[in-house]
Amino acid sequence: MSAQIKGLIAVAAAVVLAVGAWRAVVHRSAIAPALVTPSTNVHLEFSGDIGARLYRVMHELPTEDRSRRPRLIALTFDDGPYPVYTPMLLDVLRDLGVPATFFLIGADAQQWPELTRRIEAGGNEIADHTYTHPNLDQESPDAVRREILEGRDALWALSHDPAVRTLMRPPHGRYTERTLEIAQGLGYSVVLWTDDSGDWRTLTVDRLQRHLLAYATAPEIVLMHSGKLATIEALPYVVERFKRAGYKFVTVGQMLKLVQTDELNHPLRRAV
Ligand SMILES: [Zn+2]
Repeated sequence: MSAQIKGLIAVAAAVVLAVGAWRAVVHRSAIAPALVTPSTNVHLEFSGDIGARLYRVMHELPTEDRSRRPRLIALTFDDGPYPVYTPMLLDVLRDLGVPATFFLIGADAQQWPELTRRIEAGGNEIADHTYTHPNLDQESPDAVRREILEGRDALWALSHDPAVRTLMRPPHGRYTERTLEIAQGLGYSVVLWTDDSGDWRTLTVDRLQRHLLAYATAPEIVLMHSGKLATIEALPYVVERFKRAGYKFVTVGQMLKLVQTDELNHPLRRAV
């Protein structure tokens, strides 16, 4: 091999490494994966280690796959149920004819059992958001396990939706690798999101709508919250726009039967 070819190979290798490092930085600064199933390798998907970051870069889907991605969207609402806002939200979802997934706080569900039953009766999905809504990244492994299980038991007493025992979301999206492994060990898929609507920041209806449309991906899991008037008011226009763009509204449980985990994960895979 001539010195010139060796030089070219060295330059090419350097370019590949530089691009890989740049993309790894993008991964680190972007949102975490949207979904962790019981079979997800938590370390490879979440760690900031260079090996794990390179693994994620190497497993990108080719960009040409984008147009073939399933146009499915799962609206998810965290917290509650709450009087006033939850019934308002349920009415709007019923009028729009779309289901949603509700990540309920066990203690709140116990306090408002009729609201919990009404969520299910409306064709929506009920999933575990712990019993008292602590930051799980600051809790001991035993406390994490207890929060998930007590949340599950409180919800299961009111609803036998299978998602109560299979889908959970950590409060405030705060977790560690250990948190995820504990949830996996209990048989849960940890559901995060492909888009955080930001409604917890109390955005205006207009800003919320613009955000949801600007950050649309396919497939899409949107994080929203119960108890926010702007969120409820933003829904009709946003749902209409997604429908016109060919999206089908599903619960998270339905989505997971239709798409691969890889289709939801990794920020660079997401833009449509
Ligand atoms: Zn929450």
